[in-house]
Amino acid sequence: MFIPYGRQSILQSDIDRVVDVLQSEFLTQGPKVQEFEKSIADYCGADFGVAVNSATSALHIACMALGVGKGDIVWTSPNTFVASANVGHLCGAKVDFVDIDSQTYNLCPQSLAEKLENAQQTGNMPKVIIPVHFAGQSCDMQAIHALSVKYGFYVIEDASHAIGASYLGSKIGNCRFSDITVFSFHPVKIITTAEGGLATTNNHELAEKMRLFASHGVSRTFDDNDDVLRGDWFYEQVELGLNYRMTEMQAALGCSQLLRVDDFVKRRHEVADIFFSELQSLPVILPKQLNDTFSSFHLFPIQLDNEGLRKVVFDGMRSQGIGVHVHYIPVHTQPFYQYQGFKWGDFVNAETYYKKALSIPIHQSMTDEHISNVIASLKEFIK
Ligand SMILES: *Cc1c(COP(=O)(O)O)cnc(C)c1O
Repeated sequence: MFIPYGRQSILQSDIDRVVDVLQSEFLTQGPKVQEFEKSIADYCGADFGVAVNSATSALHIACMALGVGKGDIVWTSPNTFVASANVGHLCGAKVDFVDIDSQTYNLCPQSLAEKLENAQQTGNMPKVIIPVHFAGQSCDMQAIHALSVKYGFYVIEDASHAIGASYLGSKIGNCRFSDITVFSFHPVKIITTAEGGLATTNNHELAEKMRLFASHGVSRTFDDNDDVLRGDWFYEQVELGLNYRMTEMQAALGCSQLLRVDDFVKRRHEVADIFFSELQSLPVILPKQLNDTFSSFHLFPIQLDNEGLRKVVFDGMRSQGIGVHVHYIPVHTQPFYQYQGFKWGDFVNAETYYKKALSIPIHQSMTDEHISNVIASLKEFIK
């Protein structure tokens, strides 16, 4: 038996919804995508949702809609998947990082404030900041938002880990403290559409721009109905866009999965609660939870004493079929980012955390026996 660090949970009802679509008129550009967009927006309390084929695509069109281009600067956390940073480069911008808080592993608002003050003096202000809700726990969005008002930058929340999570009592994705929020529906995340992503916003213009960029930059709305060269066939390409569209099958799966998102998060909390109580006496650092956050527990990251022990525990647990993982190799240490001039030592908190980090399996399909196996295996190798 192998217990992965995360995995999808698919019921017959999910399968039936996808098969229904396969037997229907539209496989793409039909009603299911619209239904999914509205369902997610309603669930989060946002005005608009734009569904696409991945969170990476959603982050990309979010940056495009905010006008990120050559000469601009995008900042994100080094403790994330590479996509959060890459989208800046894809728009031709420069990318830089803000170190994490050592307790939450999220982008640190104090470091951000200091870096902004420096940037203002040197004329290197970011156009967009992409905080990442690591493991499913919200960043300090109030502080980040206050800084965005003071300095005038845009905020895109990378909530790839965080559908179903809350901050200050309301759902992440409501964009109360940001311009756009992005979710991922990769199978390892909370709910899945196989591949898929979605951007929420309360700004109609941003929503329309994202839609345009996700579909070739082609618009079908035009005024002059009297022109004989304009009719139902007519379209205009007004921007340079891509094809990032989600299919109807994916949207149908997403709608079906969304019905269970709160159950999924509830089960993840049950698993986390057992970890918190069973692991508290071990020499490990458990993930600190803040009062004003309710995590979706996409990950359960612990820290071991040192990198040597981490390697022993990782290899040992894997040999017993426990799918431990490590999140994340700091993005600035990736070869691509080293070519841009970043080096080890640039963001010390993210690096120190990474060297000792271990994600132990947590997902909604874990049984009590799985949980016991994970705990027993960790105890065995930690000694
Ligand atoms: C998974 C993930 C992404 C990319 O999501 P895709 O849907 O696979 O493109 C981006 N950011 C973070 C933090 C992620 O975990």
